[in-house]
Amino acid sequence: MQKRIAIIGGGIVGATAAFYLSQLPGAQQVKVTLFDDGVGQATSAAAGIISPWLSKRRNQRWYRLAKAGAALYPELMHDAQLGTEVYQQTGTIVTREAAVDLEVLADLAQERRRTAPTMGTVSVLSAKDVQAQIPLLTNPQPGVLISGGARVDGPALVQGLLDRASAVNLSVKRERVTLTTDGDVVTSMGPQRFDRVIVAVGAWLKEVLAPVGITADVRPQKGQLIELAVKDYPLQEQMPVLMPEGERDFIPFGHGKLIVGATHEDGGKFDLSRDPAVKADLLASAQRLVSGLSADSITGMRVGTRAYTPDFAPFFGPVPEHEKLLVASGLGSSGLTTGPEIGRLLAGSALYGGEPDWSEYEKPLTTYLSSSAE
Ligand SMILES: Cc1cc2nc3c(=O)[nH]c(=O)nc-3n(C[C@H](O)[C@H](O)[C@H](O)COP(=O)(O)OP(=O)(O)OC[C@H]3O[C@@H](n4cnc5c(N)ncnc54)[C@H](O)[C@@H]3O)c2cc1C
Repeated sequence: MQKRIAIIGGGIVGATAAFYLSQLPGAQQVKVTLFDDGVGQATSAAAGIISPWLSKRRNQRWYRLAKAGAALYPELMHDAQLGTEVYQQTGTIVTREAAVDLEVLADLAQERRRTAPTMGTVSVLSAKDVQAQIPLLTNPQPGVLISGGARVDGPALVQGLLDRASAVNLSVKRERVTLTTDGDVVTSMGPQRFDRVIVAVGAWLKEVLAPVGITADVRPQKGQLIELAVKDYPLQEQMPVLMPEGERDFIPFGHGKLIVGATHEDGGKFDLSRDPAVKADLLASAQRLVSGLSADSITGMRVGTRAYTPDFAPFFGPVPEHEKLLVASGLGSSGLTTGPEIGRLLAGSALYGGEPDWSEYEKPLTTYLSSSAE
């Protein structure tokens, strides 16, 4: 008999889980249905920087997971046959004004590189070298270039993965669903029973798990960024991503498109409004780096909701005492980096069962999930 697996949430976690569920040995015996309403999705709002190696975060579990996620990308793109318009290792430049800070950063990069081949080469660049790499910069600082750093187009990636999986064993339903006490999925057609349910709803985990009697310690955080069209953009399609000191990140895509962001707004609410004051602030940040930009250069503004846990760490896996359910949430500001690896692990667990030991990547799930009855 065919196994029936549901995925709730079609962001990076849900989409990669769906993709791997269509590729892993045994996929022919599985029927997968993904439910997603897309509202407020973090993945489609994200800036798309894949460069975790120089992060100041001390959480080693997070670092191992982020490193594994960054390393998975080239293989995932190959397997899903997605091109450089979706993911490209353009390199990332992290700048520091003071020579001493630059030296510390360069030492860290060299050390991390030993265990992270995806980083590629590490070079220290003068301000002039940085400008040569990103000619539209008018106010460059010296920095460290990591050649394996990348940018990814979140919405294009998700669409590509869902298209590939739909050709095998996936049906996508664009609707908001809930769970029953027993973990059945309540759809517009009524409750449906599945063998396994992957709940990959990002910041919405608390409300989705409530009927099952589980409280998830996850809060929403709003993020906004702007898209700009740069006039007289140099004919260089492949420019590194810039992570400047004290400024917003700066992601040049091809064809004159530039993304600047993102904000981290902790209001604790779900708020998808585009804030004019934030727009002006992001533009001012862009103008400090590129002269000649004006309000007319802004072509769009994106808003999304990130999920955060109290210790800023993601969690994922089978829910204790609820065998049918698997969850993932709390991916925070680096979920495009960690998300594919989480989706891949969840797909394997949903397909083959067992009790995975992912303690190298995360704390026990009971750190973040508790019974509402307690
Ligand atoms: C502005 C911004 C910039 C970012 N930049 C980066 C970056 O540069 N690099 C990086 O690594 N990360 C970045 N991130 C973080 C990253 O985008 C997220 O951590 C990641 O996308 C989370 O993925 P997810 O699949 O867990 O959740 P989401 O992408 O939020 O997907 C969850 C989905 O579940 C759906 N859903 C929720 N409830 C239900 C329901 N009841 N029924 C059906 N569907 C439901 C939602 O509509 C949504 O589509 C950024 C985030 C933001 C907001």
